[in-house]
Amino acid sequence: MSHIIDLRSDTVTRPTPAMREAMRSAPVGDDVYGEDPTVERLQASAAERLGHEAALFFPSGTQSNLVALLTHCGRGDEYLVGSDAHTYRYEGGGAAVLGGIQPQPVPSNEDGALDLDAAESLVKPRDPHFARTRLLCLENTWHGRVQALDTMAAAAAFARRHDLAVHLDGARVANAAVALDVSLARIGALFDSVSLCLSKGLGAPVGSILCGRAAWIEEARRWRKVVGGGMRQIGVIAAAAELALTDGFGGLARDHRLAGELERALATVLTDRCCGIDVRSGWTQSNMVWLDVDTRHGESLPSVLREHGVHVGSGRGALRLVLHRDIPDDAPSRVAAAFADYLRRAPDH
Ligand SMILES: *Cc1c(COP(=O)(O)O)cnc(C)c1O
Repeated sequence: MSHIIDLRSDTVTRPTPAMREAMRSAPVGDDVYGEDPTVERLQASAAERLGHEAALFFPSGTQSNLVALLTHCGRGDEYLVGSDAHTYRYEGGGAAVLGGIQPQPVPSNEDGALDLDAAESLVKPRDPHFARTRLLCLENTWHGRVQALDTMAAAAAFARRHDLAVHLDGARVANAAVALDVSLARIGALFDSVSLCLSKGLGAPVGSILCGRAAWIEEARRWRKVVGGGMRQIGVIAAAAELALTDGFGGLARDHRLAGELERALATVLTDRCCGIDVRSGWTQSNMVWLDVDTRHGESLPSVLREHGVHVGSGRGALRLVLHRDIPDDAPSRVAAAFADYLRRAPDH
């Protein structure tokens, strides 16, 4: 299927032959008993990379974020979170549903940084009228946009001033580290806990990692069991995840380069607001290119692109093109040609 260019998400990558081989031969045990050597090795190496004491393997990023929230906050507590953050908008409200944790959305600036002045006014006084504000949750990358070290450090300092813990939803923190040209540990050091998805650009078929202090991770292990995330001979999956952290990490710079090439190739086709499809300038900072797409293209554009073997989501107003390991090197020119063909054929632009 290598002729297909699937730009919908970096979650669509297939395990590499090396991953399949590692999965076949992985030593395993019952991980609920802490007896799976492959999981243990993955967790140790992930903790070391992020500069944290301990790490825990999860089936999904949603569950690792949920467990982070359950571990930091109790019933009647509150967490501050970007109003367009994944944990707030795209995880089914799990912290409220399952933990009695109130989200307090905070407006974010256009670059994804939280408005700390607004956040300041949203921290609740210690008074029985209010939920207890306990935690600040950040996200990096945010819609493919990279939060700078200074931005993250300022938010973390704000949290410490208010005696709040800080969690990073780092589903794509590996992309952020590559884009910032810093180690994962440099970012990890700013946070009490970090979640990281292994199944996105890093290319594992399944899995997410949560890092933190050892005692905190022990508590998180309990919550993972409570939400049904205790898994058994899961070394078969962890073996692929280990390769995601090594080989997968090494491939991200190429995805970012390809995103830049795609942006430039599209700019030659989508000239000067020609047609209600515009590249969002300044948004290509990691492995995503964003387009603003007039609603009149909503259905016809994806279907014409699909004829060219280019798969995109059906965005409402905005379209995100996500580069990843299974995107071929010649994708930028092929995708630009598919857009050009669409514009030739579209009757009304
Ligand atoms: C994908 C994603 C998650 C959740 O990960 P799943 O493995 O899909 O549950 C969390 N946060 C962000 C920012 C994501 O992009």
